[in-house]
Amino acid sequence: MSPRRPTRQVLVGDVPIGGDAPIAIQSMTSTHTREVDRTVAQIRGFAAAGCDLVRVAVPTKRDTEALPEILRQVPVPIIADVHFHYERALEAIEAGVHKIRLNPGNIAARRQVDRVIAACRERRIPIRVGVNEGSIVERRDRGVRAVEKALLAGGRGGLVELMVHKLEEYLRIFDEDDFHDVVLAAKSADARLAIDAYRAISRRFDYPLHLGVTHAGPPETGRIRSIAALSALLAEGIGDTLRISYASDSLDEVTDAKELLCALGLRTRDAPELIACPTCGRLEIDLLKLVGQVREKLATIKMPIKVAVMGCVVNGPGEAEGADVAVFAGKGRGIICVQGEPVRTVTEAEMLDALYEESVKFAARVERGEVQLAG
Ligand code: SF4
Repeated sequence: MSPRRPTRQVLVGDVPIGGDAPIAIQSMTSTHTREVDRTVAQIRGFAAAGCDLVRVAVPTKRDTEALPEILRQVPVPIIADVHFHYERALEAIEAGVHKIRLNPGNIAARRQVDRVIAACRERRIPIRVGVNEGSIVERRDRGVRAVEKALLAGGRGGLVELMVHKLEEYLRIFDEDDFHDVVLAAKSADARLAIDAYRAISRRFDYPLHLGVTHAGPPETGRIRSIAALSALLAEGIGDTLRISYASDSLDEVTDAKELLCALGLRTRDAPELIACPTCGRLEIDLLKLVGQVREKLATIKMPIKVAVMGCVVNGPGEAEGADVAVFAGKGRGIICVQGEPVRTVTEAEMLDALYEESVKFAARVERGEVQLAG
C-alpha cells in the first residue's frame, strides 16, 4: 500500500473529504426524490450500513421541493445531483444540501455556472466536477474541436488526455471565480481506463478525488469491474471518497464499499469478520448453509472479532490461524476453539448456536479488557 496522495480538504456537512480524512463511502438513492418517505427510508438504510454521504437526483422542481423535509429526517449529508438545469442546483442549495454534483459541460451558459458557484460559496458548499467517458465519446460524431479530435484518435491514452483536458477546461471556470471547494471525478465503464484516468488526474490536480466506475453492469461483472479499478487506485494512495455502483440494490454497493476499505485496512471494522474455508472433498457437513446462518447471527455483535467456519480439522486450524473464535467441522461433530484453544465439542445441530454463544462471550471479554483481539 502506498501512502495516501496529499489533496486539499473540503467539508461536506460534517464529513471531511480529502487531506488526511478517512475515505468516505457514498451511494445514490434509486427512488424519486420527491417521494419523501421512500427516499428517507433508503438514505437511512445506507447510513446504517456504513454510508457516509448520499446523493439524490433532482431532475424536477418537485424533487428539490422535497429536500428540506428529507434533510430534516436523515443522519448523513446529502448531495444534489444536477444535470442540465442550473435552477435545480440553486433550489437544492437554498434547501440546505451539503454538496452539489454538477458538470459545467451540461449547463448551457457560463453565467449560470457562475450563479451556482456564487451560491455554493455563500453557503460553503463544495461542488463535484467530473468528466464522463460516455459523454466524451458521444462527441466523436458531433462537431468537436481539433484538439479533442486528435486526442480521441489516440486510443485509451488519448481518451485519458482528453478527460484531463476537459477537467482543466472546467476548472478554469472555478479558478476564475476563485472557488476551490471542488471534488473531481473521471468516470468510465472500463476499469483500465478508470485507473489510467484517475492516475493522470491525481498527478495533475490536488483536489480530492471521487472514485467510481460508472455503468459497471450487473452485479456478477459490475462488482468485479468496480472493485478491480478501485482496489488498484486505493492501493496507490489515490482516492478520497468512493462509490461502488452496479445494477443492483444500492445497499449492496455500500456493504461492498465498506468491505473493500476494511480489506485494504483503510477503514476500521466495527463488526465481526467472517472467514470460511472454500470447501473441498474433505467436507462432511453443509458448510455453505452454516456460513450463511453464522453471517446472519453475527450481525448482532458490534465488535470486530474474527470468526472462522472451517470444513475440517486437516487444514482448518492452519487456515483459520488468527481467528478469535472458530469451528472445525467433522462428520456430524465440530470442535469450537477460542483463540486457538479447543473449548467445546458439539454436534452438527449445535454448531451454529455454540459458535454464536462463544463469539458473544468472547466479544464481552474483549469489552471488559480481559483479552485482546487476535488480528
Ligand atoms: S478446511 Fe478442510 S474442508 Fe475446508 S477447504 Fe480446507 S481442507 Fe477442505
